[in-house]
Amino acid sequence: MVVGHGLDQSSQQYDDLPDAHGRFGRFGGRYVPEGLMAALIELNSAYEQARADTEFTGELTELLRMRAGRPTLLHQVPRFATHLGVPGVKVYLKREDTAHTGSHKINNALGQALLAKRMGKRRVVAETGAGQHGVAVATVCAMLELACTIYMGADDMERQRPNVVRMRLLGAEVRAVAAGNRRLKEAISESVRDWVAHVDTTHYLFGTAAGPAPYPRIVRDFQTVIGVEARAQILAAEGRLPDHVLACVGGGSNAIGTFHPFAADPGVRLLGVEAAGHGVETGAHAASLSAGSPGEMDGSFSYLLQDDDGQIAATHSVAAGLDYPGAGPELSHLKEIGRVQFAAATDSLALRGLQVLAHSEGIIAALESAHAVGYLMHLAEQGELAADSVVLLCLSGRGDKDLDIAAQRLGVD
Ligand SMILES: *Cc1c(COP(=O)(O)O)cnc(C)c1O
Repeated sequence: MVVGHGLDQSSQQYDDLPDAHGRFGRFGGRYVPEGLMAALIELNSAYEQARADTEFTGELTELLRMRAGRPTLLHQVPRFATHLGVPGVKVYLKREDTAHTGSHKINNALGQALLAKRMGKRRVVAETGAGQHGVAVATVCAMLELACTIYMGADDMERQRPNVVRMRLLGAEVRAVAAGNRRLKEAISESVRDWVAHVDTTHYLFGTAAGPAPYPRIVRDFQTVIGVEARAQILAAEGRLPDHVLACVGGGSNAIGTFHPFAADPGVRLLGVEAAGHGVETGAHAASLSAGSPGEMDGSFSYLLQDDDGQIAATHSVAAGLDYPGAGPELSHLKEIGRVQFAAATDSLALRGLQVLAHSEGIIAALESAHAVGYLMHLAEQGELAADSVVLLCLSGRGDKDLDIAAQRLGVD
């Protein structure tokens, strides 16, 4: 069984990206004020050294194994596959929901926390929206003896009470951000401000494969462990590569981590599933790659949702983790060169996916992951899934956090 860290086994073709300016094609880069530039450059050179150091990568591999539960399982879900109604289709789930803290987020949190220690930083700051990234960061900080401050929009704190309690139990200080819309965007701004003010002692542990360089690359590398494991596991199980690989897309970290090791395999169709919310045509959605346009946000040039004046649009998704108006630069590039296709699943399609997977297989997926599950059902219904095809789907997280919404929307209360 493969246990790795994903850092040295990526496909050749895309190893060259990003370029020296942190760009993936025309996307990415560093659109930040001068005060932040030095911190990003320091982080970049520390990371370049770390990724080439077998002591670092060996320690990360061991932590992923012992403390995060890697490798996660890859297995078939035959009853769910039967439900798709396409003869001979095989569906494999990559079970990131079984990783410690219940999602793929721990992969990146562990990698960056170890990097912070290596840089001699004793404190970590992070933003969180729904609280899932904050919980993963608080967890690894407890594990690795790092002080931890989490910024969270005041409204998000109200809505995600259990995660606030979790973070505090884990020893993190959770600071409410009352500015602006009191959501993720403001929490990111406060984290950056804190980082710049305390850069000698503090690392900013960004949560998805977006933001200014070098974050998109660092987060992608740490999440690539998903795809590296899955590729070896499916080759062992099937003796061949899958026809379709699906993952949900918020900022893009579980998707790029799953896709990257397959990017140089032309026979593998890569499909990112975004949140269509109430429907892309209603405007209440978060489908930045499917329905947005390139622009500048959070220090990077990539696909995002903006109005005609370049103002960032309001988003909606039933899944808090997909409710982000942008997506990372590498996925933006892979869209532009046609290597990854993007589609969007509505709230109700995701809820249907959650329900069917739970009933048929005993797995309660996170609402985020359920977007990919629902979209696979949609593909089958549209006749777009050939007989005997092999599908790999990244189940990014577990649904414990979503029980209230599921109870309400699926009438199981
Ligand atoms: C945060 C989260 C996502 C979305 O983030 P990405 O960076 O796009 O992966 C997806 N699924 C789960 C379970 C999450 O917690």
